[in-house]
Amino acid sequence: MNELLSRIAEQCRAEADNGKVANYIPALANVPPEKFALAVHTLQGERYAVGESEEAFSIQSVSKTFLLALALQEMGEALWHRLGREPSGNPFNSLMQLERENGVPRNPFINAGALVVCDVLFDLYQDPLLALQQWLSEESGSMALVDPETAQSELEHGDRNAALVHFMRSYGRINHRAERVLDFYCRACAIKMSTSQLANTMLILANHGVSPVSGKKRFTRSEAKRINAVMLTCGTYDAAGEFAYRVGLPCKSGVGGGIVAVIPNKMGLCVWSPPLDQTGNSAAGLAALDMFTTETGLSIF
Ligand code: GLN
Repeated sequence: MNELLSRIAEQCRAEADNGKVANYIPALANVPPEKFALAVHTLQGERYAVGESEEAFSIQSVSKTFLLALALQEMGEALWHRLGREPSGNPFNSLMQLERENGVPRNPFINAGALVVCDVLFDLYQDPLLALQQWLSEESGSMALVDPETAQSELEHGDRNAALVHFMRSYGRINHRAERVLDFYCRACAIKMSTSQLANTMLILANHGVSPVSGKKRFTRSEAKRINAVMLTCGTYDAAGEFAYRVGLPCKSGVGGGIVAVIPNKMGLCVWSPPLDQTGNSAAGLAALDMFTTETGLSIF
């Protein structure tokens, strides 16, 4: 495995040259583009990694996986009265479908959907950010902290997300104050974790809802299946088809350059390389996951 990971790093790093580090959130623009890490953790407790796998980076939309997990864990299927779970086929921050669909977001992994999930979490937890950080710290095995500078940077430049919340609120789809929802959303996106920590958090989804890290049963088998399914169909936005085609795993990406992936019954993975392709997914990250499943034959297909 270590030999494979070294070959992946060697061959896929260069793909980063075809991408661009996100700069619409100024704090993210300063991340060195050459960073690369890939971590593979097995349910048996083996841990393999290459690159800067202990370095924390901004998890951004990877947090949408955990926001969904927290909501589903408390609310179950009733959550779907508030939003859909179909692929959007549109960029992650698009407003287009919302008007046609009466302010109901397509799925929890585009920004509009995650903002609704944030709104829901205020009804389920007294302090949802604290609940999220506690969950992540327990499931990753070490502290998950918010980077205040990134959160502030996004809040100051988050006109698109502000537009999304206000627009949905105008349809009665957001119950709490827009500023409160945005603040929580930006802080969740600004959490910093390492690839190795994130690979750990995916083990719970590989293990049908029972965490080998914390020992806790967080979801039912069917809820874990459903989160994995939504990751596969919606986790990488309008590139979900391309990811299914090339990687064949439930994945969730973020504009910090991280992508998490699940191999059910076997492994949790995370790759990090900051430059993004046109769909907002890590260019080298996609190449690395493609090479991993192609060489090992470990995909769900
Ligand atoms: N915080 C980012 C935003 O709202 C998250 C987007 C992403 O990672 N795709 O724009």
